[in-house]
Amino acid sequence: MMKTIVWFRNGLRIHDHPALAAAAASGTVLPVAVLPDRPPTASDWWISKSLEPLSKRLAALGSPLVIQKGSPPEVLARLAADTGADALFFNGQIDPAARKEETELLGLGGLDNVKISRFEPDMMLDPDVLLTKSGTPFKVFGSFWKALQQEKIPWPVPAPDTLSSWREADFLQSSSLSSILNDGQSWSAKFGQYWTPGEEGSFERWEMFRDNGIQDYETKRDYPAIDGTSRLSGFLASGNMSIRALWHAVKRAEEEGDVQQPEPFLRQLAWREFAYYQLHHFPHITDQPLRTEFQHFPWMNDAAGLAAWKAGETGYPLVDAGMRELWQTGTMHNRVRMVAASFLVKHLLIDWRNGAEWFRQTLADYDVANNTLGWQWIAGSGFDAAPYFRIFNPTVQGEKFDPDGLYIRRWVPELAQLPSKFIHAPADSPGDVLAECGVVIGETYPAPIVDHKTARSRALAAYDSVKGHKERNR
Ligand SMILES: Cc1cc2nc3c(=O)[nH]c(=O)nc-3n(C[C@H](O)[C@H](O)[C@H](O)COP(=O)(O)OP(=O)(O)OC[C@H]3O[C@@H](n4cnc5c(N)ncnc54)[C@H](O)[C@@H]3O)c2cc1C
Repeated sequence: MMKTIVWFRNGLRIHDHPALAAAAASGTVLPVAVLPDRPPTASDWWISKSLEPLSKRLAALGSPLVIQKGSPPEVLARLAADTGADALFFNGQIDPAARKEETELLGLGGLDNVKISRFEPDMMLDPDVLLTKSGTPFKVFGSFWKALQQEKIPWPVPAPDTLSSWREADFLQSSSLSSILNDGQSWSAKFGQYWTPGEEGSFERWEMFRDNGIQDYETKRDYPAIDGTSRLSGFLASGNMSIRALWHAVKRAEEEGDVQQPEPFLRQLAWREFAYYQLHHFPHITDQPLRTEFQHFPWMNDAAGLAAWKAGETGYPLVDAGMRELWQTGTMHNRVRMVAASFLVKHLLIDWRNGAEWFRQTLADYDVANNTLGWQWIAGSGFDAAPYFRIFNPTVQGEKFDPDGLYIRRWVPELAQLPSKFIHAPADSPGDVLAECGVVIGETYPAPIVDHKTARSRALAAYDSVKGHKERNR
Protein backbone atom coordinates (compact mmCIF):
# COMPACT_ATOMS: atom_id res chain seq x y z
CA MET A 1 0.00 0.00 0.00
CA MET A 2 1.42 3.32 -1.03
CA LYS A 3 1.70 6.15 1.52
CA THR A 4 1.01 9.30 -0.45
CA ILE A 5 1.15 12.94 0.52
CA VAL A 6 -1.40 14.89 -1.54
CA TRP A 7 -0.35 18.50 -1.82
CA PHE A 8 -3.40 20.77 -2.03
CA ARG A 9 -2.41 23.88 -3.93
CA ASN A 10 -5.24 25.85 -5.45
CA GLY A 11 -7.49 22.88 -6.23
CA LEU A 12 -9.18 23.30 -2.85
CA ARG A 13 -11.87 20.67 -3.26
CA ILE A 14 -12.60 16.95 -3.19
CA HIS A 15 -14.42 16.61 -6.53
CA ASP A 16 -12.44 16.39 -9.77
CA HIS A 17 -9.10 16.30 -7.98
CA PRO A 18 -6.94 13.92 -10.05
CA ALA A 19 -4.07 13.78 -7.52
CA LEU A 20 -6.39 12.98 -4.59
CA ALA A 21 -8.35 10.38 -6.55
CA ALA A 22 -5.16 8.62 -7.70
CA ALA A 23 -3.67 8.65 -4.19
CA ALA A 24 -6.89 7.28 -2.65
CA ALA A 25 -6.95 4.49 -5.21
CA SER A 26 -3.39 3.43 -4.49
CA GLY A 27 -3.24 3.41 -0.70
CA THR A 28 -3.20 5.72 2.29
CA VAL A 29 -3.29 9.50 2.02
CA LEU A 30 -1.95 12.48 3.95
CA PRO A 31 -3.51 15.69 2.58
CA VAL A 32 -1.31 18.76 3.07
CA ALA A 33 -1.74 22.46 2.33
CA VAL A 34 1.13 24.93 2.66
CA LEU A 35 0.40 28.61 3.15
CA PRO A 36 3.04 31.15 2.11
CA ASP A 37 4.97 32.89 4.87
CA ARG A 38 4.48 36.50 3.70
CA PRO A 39 1.95 39.31 4.16
CA PRO A 40 -1.39 37.93 2.90
CA THR A 41 -3.09 39.18 -0.24
CA ALA A 42 -6.85 39.22 -0.80
CA SER A 43 -6.79 35.84 -2.53
CA ASP A 44 -4.89 34.39 0.44
CA TRP A 45 -8.00 35.29 2.44
CA TRP A 46 -10.13 33.22 0.05
CA ILE A 47 -7.70 30.32 0.18
CA SER A 48 -7.43 30.28 3.95
CA LYS A 49 -11.23 30.44 4.30
CA SER A 50 -11.52 27.51 1.91
CA LEU A 51 -9.22 25.42 4.06
CA GLU A 52 -11.66 25.24 6.98
CA PRO A 53 -14.44 23.44 5.05
CA LEU A 54 -11.88 21.41 3.08
CA SER A 55 -10.29 20.26 6.29
CA LYS A 56 -13.71 19.19 7.66
CA ARG A 57 -14.57 17.23 4.50
CA LEU A 58 -11.23 15.45 4.43
CA ALA A 59 -11.55 14.59 8.12
CA ALA A 60 -15.05 13.19 7.51
CA LEU A 61 -13.64 11.03 4.71
CA GLY A 62 -10.99 9.69 7.06
CA SER A 63 -7.81 11.74 6.63
CA PRO A 64 -7.65 15.26 8.05
CA LEU A 65 -5.77 18.06 6.33
CA VAL A 66 -2.38 19.10 7.63
CA ILE A 67 -1.85 22.84 7.22
CA GLN A 68 1.65 24.27 7.37
CA LYS A 69 3.29 27.60 6.65
CA GLY A 70 6.50 28.13 4.68
CA SER A 71 8.07 27.34 1.34
CA PRO A 72 6.11 24.40 -0.15
CA PRO A 73 9.13 22.45 -1.49
CA GLU A 74 10.90 22.62 1.89
CA VAL A 75 7.80 21.86 3.97
CA LEU A 76 6.83 18.93 1.76
CA ALA A 77 10.34 17.46 1.77
CA ARG A 78 10.42 17.67 5.58
CA LEU A 79 6.97 16.12 5.94
CA ALA A 80 7.84 13.30 3.56
CA ALA A 81 10.95 12.50 5.59
CA ASP A 82 9.17 12.80 8.99
CA THR A 83 6.20 10.65 8.02
CA GLY A 84 7.94 8.03 5.88
CA ALA A 85 5.80 8.88 2.84
CA ASP A 86 6.75 7.11 -0.34
CA ALA A 87 4.84 9.26 -2.83
CA LEU A 88 3.89 12.89 -3.36
CA PHE A 89 1.02 13.73 -5.72
CA PHE A 90 -0.24 17.14 -6.76
CA ASN A 91 -2.25 18.80 -9.51
CA GLY A 92 -0.04 20.89 -11.78
CA GLN A 93 -0.41 24.65 -12.17
CA ILE A 94 0.57 26.54 -15.26
CA ASP A 95 1.78 29.90 -13.98
CA PRO A 96 5.54 30.50 -13.91
CA ALA A 97 5.85 30.90 -10.11
CA ALA A 98 4.00 27.62 -9.51
CA ARG A 99 6.06 25.85 -12.18
CA LYS A 100 9.21 27.07 -10.45
CA GLU A 101 7.99 25.48 -7.19
CA GLU A 102 7.37 22.22 -9.03
CA THR A 103 10.89 22.27 -10.47
CA GLU A 104 12.35 23.02 -7.04
CA LEU A 105 10.41 20.12 -5.58
CA LEU A 106 11.77 17.74 -8.18
CA GLY A 107 15.31 18.94 -7.50
CA LEU A 108 15.20 18.44 -3.71
CA GLY A 109 17.55 15.74 -2.47
CA GLY A 110 15.32 14.87 0.52
CA LEU A 111 12.75 13.44 -1.85
CA ASP A 112 15.03 10.92 -3.53
CA ASN A 113 13.02 7.88 -2.52
CA VAL A 114 9.64 9.51 -2.95
CA LYS A 115 7.69 9.04 -6.15
CA ILE A 116 6.58 12.48 -7.32
CA SER A 117 3.63 12.71 -9.70
CA ARG A 118 2.23 15.85 -11.27
CA PHE A 119 -1.40 15.51 -12.39
CA GLU A 120 -3.35 17.63 -14.85
CA PRO A 121 -3.87 21.33 -14.14
CA ASP A 122 -7.37 22.75 -13.72
CA MET A 123 -8.13 23.21 -17.41
CA MET A 124 -10.76 21.82 -19.74
CA LEU A 125 -8.25 20.41 -22.22
CA ASP A 126 -4.56 19.65 -22.53
CA PRO A 127 -3.14 22.94 -23.91
CA ASP A 128 -0.53 21.08 -25.97
CA VAL A 129 -3.18 19.15 -27.87
CA LEU A 130 -5.50 21.97 -28.93
CA LEU A 131 -3.45 23.60 -31.71
CA THR A 132 -3.99 25.22 -35.10
CA LYS A 133 -3.71 23.10 -38.27
CA SER A 134 -0.09 24.13 -38.56
CA GLY A 135 0.60 22.89 -35.03
CA THR A 136 1.01 26.31 -33.40
CA PRO A 137 -0.95 27.75 -30.44
CA PHE A 138 -4.11 29.71 -31.24
CA LYS A 139 -3.63 33.45 -30.91
CA VAL A 140 -7.15 34.63 -31.64
CA PHE A 141 -10.02 33.84 -29.28
CA GLY A 142 -12.63 33.31 -32.04
CA SER A 143 -10.77 30.40 -33.64
CA PHE A 144 -9.78 29.00 -30.24
CA TRP A 145 -13.45 28.97 -29.20
CA LYS A 146 -14.49 27.30 -32.44
CA ALA A 147 -11.85 24.58 -31.97
CA LEU A 148 -12.75 24.09 -28.29
CA GLN A 149 -16.41 23.49 -29.16
CA GLN A 150 -15.40 20.61 -31.44
CA GLU A 151 -13.65 18.84 -28.57
CA LYS A 152 -15.10 16.50 -25.98
CA ILE A 153 -14.35 17.98 -22.57
CA PRO A 154 -13.32 15.08 -20.27
CA TRP A 155 -15.63 14.20 -17.40
CA PRO A 156 -14.60 15.32 -13.92
CA VAL A 157 -12.82 12.70 -11.81
CA PRO A 158 -15.17 11.34 -9.09
CA ALA A 159 -14.47 12.28 -5.47
CA PRO A 160 -13.18 9.43 -3.27
CA ASP A 161 -15.84 7.87 -0.96
CA THR A 162 -13.37 7.33 1.80
CA LEU A 163 -9.73 7.99 2.69
CA SER A 164 -7.40 6.29 5.08
CA SER A 165 -4.34 7.77 6.64
CA TRP A 166 -1.19 6.04 7.82
CA ARG A 167 -0.83 8.59 10.59
CA GLU A 168 -2.91 9.20 13.70
CA ALA A 169 -5.65 11.72 12.99
CA ASP A 170 -4.15 14.29 15.33
CA PHE A 171 -0.69 14.11 13.78
CA LEU A 172 0.47 17.68 13.28
CA GLN A 173 -3.20 18.45 13.23
CA SER A 174 -2.40 21.89 12.08
CA SER A 175 -1.02 22.56 15.53
CA SER A 176 -2.30 26.10 15.34
CA LEU A 177 -4.94 25.89 12.62
CA SER A 178 -6.85 28.91 13.84
CA SER A 179 -3.77 31.04 14.34
CA ILE A 180 -2.43 30.11 10.89
CA LEU A 181 -5.76 30.90 9.26
CA ASN A 182 -6.46 34.13 11.08
CA ASP A 183 -2.98 35.51 11.10
CA GLY A 184 -2.75 38.99 9.54
CA GLN A 185 -6.18 38.84 7.94
CA SER A 186 -7.69 41.96 9.49
CA TRP A 187 -7.82 43.99 6.27
CA SER A 188 -9.65 41.28 4.34
CA ALA A 189 -11.90 40.13 7.20
CA LYS A 190 -14.72 42.25 5.74
CA PHE A 191 -14.83 40.04 2.62
CA GLY A 192 -16.67 37.51 4.78
CA GLN A 193 -19.78 39.71 4.44
CA TYR A 194 -19.82 38.99 0.72
CA TRP A 195 -18.38 35.53 0.17
CA THR A 196 -18.56 31.99 1.55
CA PRO A 197 -15.44 30.32 0.15
CA GLY A 198 -15.25 26.53 -0.14
CA GLU A 199 -16.60 23.69 -2.23
CA GLU A 200 -20.09 23.80 -0.69
CA GLY A 201 -20.29 27.55 -1.24
CA SER A 202 -19.36 27.06 -4.89
CA PHE A 203 -22.16 24.54 -5.47
CA GLU A 204 -24.68 26.80 -3.76
CA ARG A 205 -23.61 29.75 -5.88
CA TRP A 206 -23.78 27.72 -9.09
CA GLU A 207 -27.27 26.43 -8.26
CA MET A 208 -28.47 29.95 -7.53
CA PHE A 209 -27.08 31.15 -10.84
CA ARG A 210 -28.50 28.14 -12.72
CA ASP A 211 -31.98 28.78 -11.28
CA ASN A 212 -32.04 32.57 -11.40
CA GLY A 213 -29.28 34.07 -13.49
CA ILE A 214 -27.90 32.11 -16.41
CA GLN A 215 -31.05 32.56 -18.48
CA ASP A 216 -30.62 36.33 -18.60
CA TYR A 217 -26.83 36.33 -18.49
CA GLU A 218 -26.37 37.81 -21.97
CA THR A 219 -28.71 40.74 -21.36
CA LYS A 220 -27.71 41.49 -17.77
CA ARG A 221 -24.00 40.72 -17.57
CA ASP A 222 -22.84 44.24 -18.40
CA TYR A 223 -24.83 46.07 -15.72
CA PRO A 224 -22.85 46.31 -12.50
CA ALA A 225 -25.83 47.26 -10.32
CA ILE A 226 -27.52 43.95 -11.18
CA ASP A 227 -26.58 40.53 -9.85
CA GLY A 228 -26.42 39.35 -13.47
CA THR A 229 -23.22 37.27 -13.59
CA SER A 230 -22.36 33.99 -11.93
CA ARG A 231 -20.00 35.48 -9.29
CA LEU A 232 -18.12 32.19 -9.46
CA SER A 233 -14.68 33.68 -10.14
CA GLY A 234 -13.37 33.30 -6.57
CA PHE A 235 -14.50 29.67 -6.51
CA LEU A 236 -12.87 28.96 -9.86
CA ALA A 237 -9.65 30.83 -9.06
CA SER A 238 -9.13 28.92 -5.81
CA GLY A 239 -10.28 25.68 -7.39
CA ASN A 240 -13.22 25.28 -4.97
CA MET A 241 -15.01 24.29 -8.16
CA SER A 242 -13.29 22.64 -11.11
CA ILE A 243 -13.76 24.11 -14.56
CA ARG A 244 -14.68 20.72 -16.02
CA ALA A 245 -17.29 20.15 -13.30
CA LEU A 246 -18.83 23.55 -14.06
CA TRP A 247 -18.77 23.01 -17.83
CA HIS A 248 -20.55 19.66 -17.48
CA ALA A 249 -23.01 21.03 -14.92
CA VAL A 250 -24.05 23.69 -17.44
CA LYS A 251 -24.34 21.11 -20.21
CA ARG A 252 -26.40 18.82 -17.98
CA ALA A 253 -28.73 21.66 -17.01
CA GLU A 254 -29.19 22.37 -20.72
CA GLU A 255 -29.92 18.70 -21.52
CA GLU A 256 -32.43 18.49 -18.69
CA GLY A 257 -34.20 21.60 -19.98
CA ASP A 258 -33.40 23.72 -16.90
CA VAL A 259 -31.37 26.15 -18.99
CA GLN A 260 -31.79 27.29 -22.59
CA GLN A 261 -28.94 28.46 -24.77
CA PRO A 262 -26.17 28.75 -22.22
CA GLU A 263 -23.63 29.58 -24.92
CA PRO A 264 -22.85 33.16 -23.80
CA PHE A 265 -21.88 31.84 -20.37
CA LEU A 266 -19.88 28.90 -21.75
CA ARG A 267 -18.05 31.39 -23.96
CA GLN A 268 -16.83 33.24 -20.85
CA LEU A 269 -15.59 29.95 -19.40
CA ALA A 270 -13.72 29.54 -22.66
CA TRP A 271 -12.10 32.96 -22.11
CA ARG A 272 -10.74 31.57 -18.86
CA GLU A 273 -9.46 28.54 -20.75
CA PHE A 274 -7.89 30.83 -23.36
CA ALA A 275 -6.15 32.81 -20.60
CA TYR A 276 -4.68 29.61 -19.12
CA TYR A 277 -3.77 28.37 -22.58
CA GLN A 278 -1.89 31.56 -23.43
CA LEU A 279 -0.04 31.57 -20.14
CA HIS A 280 0.95 27.94 -20.71
CA HIS A 281 2.34 28.68 -24.17
CA PHE A 282 3.77 32.14 -23.40
CA PRO A 283 4.79 32.08 -19.71
CA HIS A 284 6.65 35.40 -19.94
CA ILE A 285 3.42 37.37 -20.39
CA THR A 286 2.80 37.92 -16.67
CA ASP A 287 5.25 40.82 -16.92
CA GLN A 288 6.16 41.20 -20.59
CA PRO A 289 3.89 42.39 -23.40
CA LEU A 290 2.84 39.68 -25.85
CA ARG A 291 3.35 42.11 -28.73
CA THR A 292 7.00 43.01 -28.58
CA GLU A 293 6.55 46.52 -30.05
CA PHE A 294 4.90 47.42 -26.72
CA GLN A 295 8.28 47.15 -25.03
CA HIS A 296 8.83 50.68 -26.34
CA PHE A 297 5.53 52.14 -25.13
CA PRO A 298 6.06 55.60 -23.61
CA TRP A 299 4.51 54.90 -20.19
CA MET A 300 4.34 57.82 -17.76
CA ASN A 301 5.63 57.77 -14.24
CA ASP A 302 2.64 59.26 -12.40
CA ALA A 303 2.72 58.27 -8.72
CA ALA A 304 -0.11 60.68 -7.81
CA GLY A 305 -2.32 59.32 -10.61
CA LEU A 306 -1.67 55.74 -9.52
CA ALA A 307 -2.47 56.58 -5.89
CA ALA A 308 -5.74 58.33 -6.88
CA TRP A 309 -6.74 55.34 -9.03
CA LYS A 310 -6.06 52.85 -6.24
CA ALA A 311 -8.02 54.92 -3.74
CA GLY A 312 -11.01 55.46 -6.05
CA GLU A 313 -10.42 59.23 -6.11
CA THR A 314 -10.08 59.96 -9.84
CA GLY A 315 -13.15 62.18 -10.14
CA TYR A 316 -14.71 59.71 -12.61
CA PRO A 317 -17.57 58.09 -10.65
CA LEU A 318 -17.73 54.72 -12.43
CA VAL A 319 -13.96 54.20 -12.07
CA ASP A 320 -14.05 55.28 -8.42
CA ALA A 321 -17.03 53.04 -7.65
CA GLY A 322 -15.19 50.05 -9.13
CA MET A 323 -11.98 50.69 -7.23
CA ARG A 324 -13.90 51.07 -3.98
CA GLU A 325 -15.97 47.94 -4.64
CA LEU A 326 -12.66 46.13 -5.09
CA TRP A 327 -11.27 47.38 -1.79
CA GLN A 328 -14.46 46.53 0.08
CA THR A 329 -15.41 43.17 -1.43
CA GLY A 330 -12.26 41.81 -3.09
CA THR A 331 -13.90 41.75 -6.53
CA MET A 332 -15.08 44.13 -9.21
CA HIS A 333 -17.74 43.72 -11.88
CA ASN A 334 -16.22 42.80 -15.27
CA ARG A 335 -17.57 45.84 -17.14
CA VAL A 336 -16.12 48.12 -14.48
CA ARG A 337 -12.82 46.18 -14.40
CA MET A 338 -12.49 47.00 -18.09
CA VAL A 339 -13.31 50.68 -17.64
CA ALA A 340 -11.09 51.12 -14.55
CA ALA A 341 -8.17 49.27 -16.15
CA SER A 342 -8.53 51.22 -19.37
CA PHE A 343 -8.58 54.48 -17.39
CA LEU A 344 -5.24 53.62 -15.76
CA VAL A 345 -3.59 52.54 -18.98
CA LYS A 346 -5.06 54.94 -21.52
CA HIS A 347 -6.17 58.04 -19.60
CA LEU A 348 -3.21 58.08 -17.22
CA LEU A 349 -0.72 56.22 -19.48
CA ILE A 350 0.43 54.23 -16.45
CA ASP A 351 2.12 50.90 -17.25
CA TRP A 352 -0.46 48.07 -17.04
CA ARG A 353 1.89 46.08 -14.81
CA ASN A 354 1.17 48.55 -11.97
CA GLY A 355 -2.53 47.86 -12.30
CA ALA A 356 -2.00 44.10 -12.57
CA GLU A 357 0.07 44.20 -9.38
CA TRP A 358 -2.63 46.15 -7.49
CA PHE A 359 -5.20 43.61 -8.63
CA ARG A 360 -2.87 40.79 -7.52
CA GLN A 361 -2.84 42.24 -4.03
CA THR A 362 -6.50 43.18 -3.72
CA LEU A 363 -8.59 40.73 -5.79
CA ALA A 364 -10.00 37.86 -3.74
CA ASP A 365 -10.63 36.13 -7.10
CA TYR A 366 -7.10 36.86 -8.28
CA ASP A 367 -6.14 34.50 -11.04
CA VAL A 368 -2.76 35.11 -12.63
CA ALA A 369 -3.88 33.86 -16.06
CA ASN A 370 -7.16 35.81 -16.22
CA ASN A 371 -5.59 38.93 -14.77
CA THR A 372 -2.71 38.87 -17.24
CA LEU A 373 -5.03 38.34 -20.19
CA GLY A 374 -7.36 41.11 -18.93
CA TRP A 375 -4.59 43.69 -18.61
CA GLN A 376 -2.86 42.82 -21.87
CA TRP A 377 -6.23 42.96 -23.62
CA ILE A 378 -6.93 46.40 -22.21
CA ALA A 379 -3.43 47.71 -22.92
CA GLY A 380 -3.62 46.41 -26.49
CA SER A 381 -0.42 44.45 -26.04
CA GLY A 382 -2.06 40.99 -26.20
CA PHE A 383 -2.49 39.08 -29.45
CA ASP A 384 -6.26 39.34 -29.48
CA ALA A 385 -6.59 42.65 -27.68
CA ALA A 386 -8.80 45.73 -27.65
CA PRO A 387 -7.91 47.97 -30.60
CA TYR A 388 -5.62 50.78 -29.48
CA PHE A 389 -8.04 53.45 -30.65
CA ARG A 390 -10.83 52.10 -28.44
CA ILE A 391 -10.59 54.36 -25.43
CA PHE A 392 -13.50 53.86 -23.06
CA ASN A 393 -15.12 57.13 -22.08
CA PRO A 394 -15.78 56.46 -18.37
CA THR A 395 -18.63 58.98 -18.25
CA VAL A 396 -20.45 57.48 -21.24
CA GLN A 397 -19.83 53.96 -19.91
CA GLY A 398 -21.49 55.00 -16.66
CA GLU A 399 -24.49 56.50 -18.47
CA LYS A 400 -24.87 53.37 -20.57
CA PHE A 401 -24.32 50.60 -18.03
CA ASP A 402 -25.39 52.27 -14.78
CA PRO A 403 -28.10 54.59 -16.12
CA ASP A 404 -29.72 55.24 -12.75
CA GLY A 405 -26.39 55.49 -10.98
CA LEU A 406 -27.37 52.71 -8.56
CA TYR A 407 -23.90 51.16 -8.60
CA ILE A 408 -22.23 54.55 -8.17
CA ARG A 409 -24.57 55.50 -5.31
CA ARG A 410 -23.68 52.26 -3.53
CA TRP A 411 -19.89 52.62 -3.70
CA VAL A 412 -19.47 56.41 -3.85
CA PRO A 413 -21.97 57.48 -1.20
CA GLU A 414 -20.89 61.13 -1.27
CA LEU A 415 -22.59 61.35 -4.70
CA ALA A 416 -25.70 59.40 -3.68
CA GLN A 417 -28.03 62.43 -3.64
CA LEU A 418 -27.22 63.58 -7.17
CA PRO A 419 -29.94 63.05 -9.80
CA SER A 420 -29.14 60.31 -12.37
CA LYS A 421 -28.68 62.97 -15.03
CA PHE A 422 -25.69 64.47 -13.20
CA ILE A 423 -24.21 61.58 -11.27
CA HIS A 424 -21.84 60.48 -14.07
CA ALA A 425 -20.12 63.86 -14.43
CA PRO A 426 -20.50 65.65 -11.10
CA ALA A 427 -17.92 68.34 -11.92
CA ASP A 428 -20.04 69.46 -14.88
CA SER A 429 -23.25 69.68 -12.85
CA PRO A 430 -24.98 73.02 -12.15
CA GLY A 431 -23.82 74.68 -8.93
CA ASP A 432 -27.29 74.75 -7.38
CA VAL A 433 -27.77 71.00 -7.95
CA LEU A 434 -24.41 70.27 -6.34
CA ALA A 435 -25.19 72.55 -3.40
CA GLU A 436 -28.59 70.94 -2.89
CA CYS A 437 -27.00 67.48 -2.88
CA GLY A 438 -24.18 68.43 -0.53
CA VAL A 439 -21.43 67.93 -3.13
CA VAL A 440 -18.46 70.31 -3.19
CA ILE A 441 -16.13 69.42 -6.06
CA GLY A 442 -12.55 69.30 -4.83
CA GLU A 443 -13.75 68.91 -1.23
CA THR A 444 -16.35 66.19 -0.82
CA TYR A 445 -15.54 64.60 -4.18
CA PRO A 446 -12.46 65.16 -6.39
CA ALA A 447 -12.43 67.07 -9.66
CA PRO A 448 -11.43 64.78 -12.58
CA ILE A 449 -7.69 64.18 -12.30
CA VAL A 450 -7.40 64.33 -16.07
CA ASP A 451 -9.63 65.81 -18.76
CA HIS A 452 -11.14 63.09 -20.96
CA LYS A 453 -10.54 64.79 -24.32
CA THR A 454 -6.96 65.75 -23.51
CA ALA A 455 -6.24 62.26 -22.17
CA ARG A 456 -7.73 60.68 -25.28
CA SER A 457 -5.53 62.66 -27.69
CA ARG A 458 -2.48 62.02 -25.53
CA ALA A 459 -3.20 58.26 -25.52
CA LEU A 460 -3.73 58.15 -29.28
CA ALA A 461 -0.38 59.90 -29.80
CA ALA A 462 1.36 57.42 -27.49
CA TYR A 463 -0.23 54.47 -29.29
CA ASP A 464 0.73 55.95 -32.66
CA SER A 465 4.36 55.96 -31.55
CA VAL A 466 4.14 52.20 -30.89
CA LYS A 467 2.54 51.65 -34.28
CA GLY A 468 5.40 53.62 -35.84
CA HIS A 469 7.89 51.42 -34.05
CA LYS A 470 6.20 48.30 -35.40
CA GLU A 471 6.24 49.69 -38.95
CA ARG A 472 9.93 50.71 -38.71
CA ASN A 473 10.77 47.16 -37.66
CA ARG A 474 8.93 45.43 -40.49
C1 LIG B 1 -8.12 44.03 -16.13
C2 LIG B 1 -8.85 42.76 -15.82
C3 LIG B 1 -8.38 41.91 -14.81
C4 LIG B 1 -9.05 40.72 -14.51
N1 LIG B 1 -8.56 39.92 -13.49
C5 LIG B 1 -9.19 38.75 -13.21
C6 LIG B 1 -8.71 37.89 -12.18
O1 LIG B 1 -7.69 38.15 -11.53
N2 LIG B 1 -9.42 36.75 -11.90
C7 LIG B 1 -10.53 36.39 -12.62
O2 LIG B 1 -11.11 35.34 -12.35
N3 LIG B 1 -10.98 37.18 -13.63
C8 LIG B 1 -10.36 38.34 -13.94
N4 LIG B 1 -10.86 39.13 -14.93
C9 LIG B 1 -11.98 38.65 -15.78
C10 LIG B 1 -13.40 39.00 -15.29
O3 LIG B 1 -13.49 40.35 -14.97
C11 LIG B 1 -13.85 38.17 -14.08
O4 LIG B 1 -13.61 36.80 -14.33
C12 LIG B 1 -15.35 38.34 -13.81
O5 LIG B 1 -15.64 39.70 -13.54
C13 LIG B 1 -15.75 37.49 -12.62
O6 LIG B 1 -17.11 37.62 -12.34
P1 LIG B 1 -18.09 36.38 -12.52
O7 LIG B 1 -17.52 35.17 -11.87
O8 LIG B 1 -19.44 36.83 -12.09
O9 LIG B 1 -18.01 36.19 -14.11
P2 LIG B 1 -19.02 35.56 -15.15
O10 LIG B 1 -19.34 36.60 -16.15
O11 LIG B 1 -20.15 34.86 -14.51
O12 LIG B 1 -18.09 34.49 -15.91
C14 LIG B 1 -17.92 33.15 -15.43
C15 LIG B 1 -16.45 32.83 -15.32
O13 LIG B 1 -15.82 32.91 -16.60
C16 LIG B 1 -14.50 33.40 -16.45
N5 LIG B 1 -14.39 34.70 -17.14
C17 LIG B 1 -15.36 35.61 -17.34
N6 LIG B 1 -14.88 36.66 -18.03
C18 LIG B 1 -13.58 36.41 -18.26
C19 LIG B 1 -12.54 37.12 -18.92
N7 LIG B 1 -12.75 38.30 -19.52
N8 LIG B 1 -11.31 36.57 -18.94
C20 LIG B 1 -11.06 35.36 -18.38
N9 LIG B 1 -12.02 34.64 -17.74
C21 LIG B 1 -13.26 35.16 -17.69
C22 LIG B 1 -14.25 33.60 -14.96
O14 LIG B 1 -13.65 32.43 -14.45
C23 LIG B 1 -15.66 33.78 -14.43
O15 LIG B 1 -15.79 33.45 -13.08
C24 LIG B 1 -10.20 40.35 -15.26
C25 LIG B 1 -10.68 41.22 -16.25
C26 LIG B 1 -10.02 42.41 -16.53
C27 LIG B 1 -10.56 43.31 -17.61
